[in-house]
Amino acid sequence: MPPFGRRTASAGIITALMGVILTTPSWTEPMTVFVEPSQTVLRTIVTLESGARKTYALRLLGGTTLHYEVFVDGGLTDSVLVGLLDESNFRHLGQSEPYRLVPGTEQTVRRVGKYVFPVPRTDTYYLLIDNAAAWFSGRDVVVYAYVLYPQPTLWSRQFQRSTQHLYDSLKAWFAFADFKILYRHCGSENAFSNPDITICLELIEALRDEGLQGAYPFVLFHELGHSFLHVWGDARFADESVADEFAVMACILLDLQSNAREAARWFANRRVEINAGLPLWLVDRHALSPVRAQHILDQLDRPMDLMRRWQATLVSHLQTDYMRHLDQAPYDWVDHALLRAEMARRGADPSAPSRQPSKWRFKPPKTETENSAGDRSSDR
Ligand SMILES: [Zn+2]
Repeated sequence: MPPFGRRTASAGIITALMGVILTTPSWTEPMTVFVEPSQTVLRTIVTLESGARKTYALRLLGGTTLHYEVFVDGGLTDSVLVGLLDESNFRHLGQSEPYRLVPGTEQTVRRVGKYVFPVPRTDTYYLLIDNAAAWFSGRDVVVYAYVLYPQPTLWSRQFQRSTQHLYDSLKAWFAFADFKILYRHCGSENAFSNPDITICLELIEALRDEGLQGAYPFVLFHELGHSFLHVWGDARFADESVADEFAVMACILLDLQSNAREAARWFANRRVEINAGLPLWLVDRHALSPVRAQHILDQLDRPMDLMRRWQATLVSHLQTDYMRHLDQAPYDWVDHALLRAEMARRGADPSAPSRQPSKWRFKPPKTETENSAGDRSSDR
């Protein structure tokens, strides 16, 4: 399954801001968010006619690891030859002289191939996709490559910090046993919870391609719904519609309704791809459908029932300070009787002033900037 589909890239602008006033956790949290220090260097779909080849220049640092994935569709055998060339052999190839691939990198891909190349020294390497053996037909080839760094990068550190900030804010709203949130390449557009959360970087790239980065908090809150219910011992933790409800509820709680609407648009748009058997978000259990999208929109339009039901589920897991905030919030769905009964049970003074609030704002995740490898490709 290719890590991304045929789409045109476009920039998305996120305008949703966090509106809820938050309390600052006064304790120091252990690091629970991990971001793979990687950079996507190539994402392309190319049609290679019979006898054609293509090369992609990749400037690679010694000590890093190149991961590349090739997906082939078409022709009699669904296969192409792939490999890496160094600078001098790339010149030989261009001059139609005998050339040699970097030892150990020559592979025949039948439908899908995934490869790892530890970069021995800093140099420009050329990824060769060769359809020279095809006699009759062209092939559609998806090429995806990323570099893994041995140390955190500026991007991975910034992304880690911003997500850790969200995680620490979650600790200020809810009481829950720690779980990890991991961002990494998975080979597909996916996200899952077990209850540690994995968000595949391909999924974030796909949202960016579609100009729907705003759907990202919904995806994250959906996974958080699975994880929270899991660590709280709620039997519904694996239920997809319950996780969706949690995500809608969290978006309402945090004034991120426009993000939930964006997610709904995304679900609705992907219908064609589902029918065509192309990559799915959350392949394992998640039925993407216009029905799911409609549920989200209905709940956003009429939040009262949803928010009342979820307050009953959440009330024993809410941090007391956050409960005071909610009790003072101007929303008509706030169940004051429920919150005050719980505060009384805890012996907490409902009118006590809150601690100094912190202001967490949603910022769309950036993907590591792709270099221009695709633009420097050559048909030699
Ligand atoms: Zn799910």
